[in-house]
Amino acid sequence: KGENDPLASFWMPFTANRAYKAQPRQLVSASGMYYQSADGRQILDGTSGLWCSNAGHCRAEIVEAITKTAATLDYAPTFQLGHPLPFELAQRLAALMPDGLDRIFFTNSGSESVDTALKIALAAQRARGQGTRTRLIGRERAYHGTGFGGISVGGLVNNRRAFGGGLPGTDHLRHTHDRDRNAFSRGFPQHGAELADDLQRLVDLHGTETIAAVIVEPMAGSTGVLIPPVGYLQRLRDICDHHGIILIFDEVITAFGRVGGATAASEWGVTPDIITMAKGLTNAAVPMGAVAVKRELHDVVIESVPGGIELFHGYTYSGHPLAAAAGLAALDVYEREGLFERARELGAYWEDAAHSLKVGRHVVDIRAIGLVAGIELEPRPGAPAARATEFFHAAFDNGLLIRATGDIIALSPPLIVEKAQIDEMFGKLAELVERID
Ligand code: PMP
Repeated sequence: KGENDPLASFWMPFTANRAYKAQPRQLVSASGMYYQSADGRQILDGTSGLWCSNAGHCRAEIVEAITKTAATLDYAPTFQLGHPLPFELAQRLAALMPDGLDRIFFTNSGSESVDTALKIALAAQRARGQGTRTRLIGRERAYHGTGFGGISVGGLVNNRRAFGGGLPGTDHLRHTHDRDRNAFSRGFPQHGAELADDLQRLVDLHGTETIAAVIVEPMAGSTGVLIPPVGYLQRLRDICDHHGIILIFDEVITAFGRVGGATAASEWGVTPDIITMAKGLTNAAVPMGAVAVKRELHDVVIESVPGGIELFHGYTYSGHPLAAAAGLAALDVYEREGLFERARELGAYWEDAAHSLKVGRHVVDIRAIGLVAGIELEPRPGAPAARATEFFHAAFDNGLLIRATGDIIALSPPLIVEKAQIDEMFGKLAELVERID
């Protein structure tokens, strides 16, 4: 650690700052498309914070809703009692979900949404008389948060190794196959849907009667913007239907317009049984997550749980007034400004801009869809991820916030982004491709 680092003695999750030793980077204010850094510079936000501030920062309506609610009803207990805001938000959310997913459970984060969704799936299988179905299936290279369920179905082995391997009985779909090593990496590729048949392999291996649910990110975000082959998600749906397996879409990143449409499910026309959300739900102004569940699944669980819904593990802060107020105001902004449609309409421009970077020097793959892009860099021999981190720091110094995960740079700007700002983002990246060794 840097000796002059005033934060050196604190444990904090800001690993990038800690790695940066003596100069922790701090953001002190934000407005619209920009952050302001502690050294007084404007930073163009190419990542919506952390895939979450979809309407841009410090939107006046959201600030006002939070402030007003904080002064009126700071908190109401979750159990037996209620207050109007989450009911209203649940109704608004249900209207945005694919048909039938109109039962809403509120959480405080994406990780909690994932663990809650897995529990609902297991409870529903038991309630249907399918108590042998306890196995949860995820996918390689997926990220589903930091809860115990999430690290278990997640595809990042290192994330669970330190904790003894996660929940027993989980298994993972492949996301590549031999013939086409990177079927997920070619920007909505026309072939590769048959990768979904890997679920059939797991059914044959473990037995249908053991499998409760499959969880996938419709488009894996934080592990590198992995866009599914056309038809892949429908094929997963078909196999799940055939075997009575519950299908969960983790839409913590994709919900609220990232790929156009309120959800990737609605945008790509495949309806899962459960959808998890967080991030954009409140435009990230207050932490909140949600799980949308098909009515039949919800009802079978509620009817089967002795003592009713209260035994089904609400959180102290489920439907917190401030979060619900922020959520309602965020949905107002998304709707009034047509931001989901905007992501769809700007998609072609965005994709062209992303591909203005060329595969060649440093760049091995470019993937873009909606308002999200992944630029995969060639690993430096012996120092994987080092180049992407260097891009992150150099971009920040040059007034642009990007996300570096592994050897991948991800961009996911607020959906209010202007074309000139898109040009600026990829222009700055092109310059870095030339400049960085
Ligand atoms: N699922 C997905 C798909 C995510 O991208 C994330 C966060 N990046 C999570 C779950 C976890 O969300 P949180 O960090 O809010 O717990």
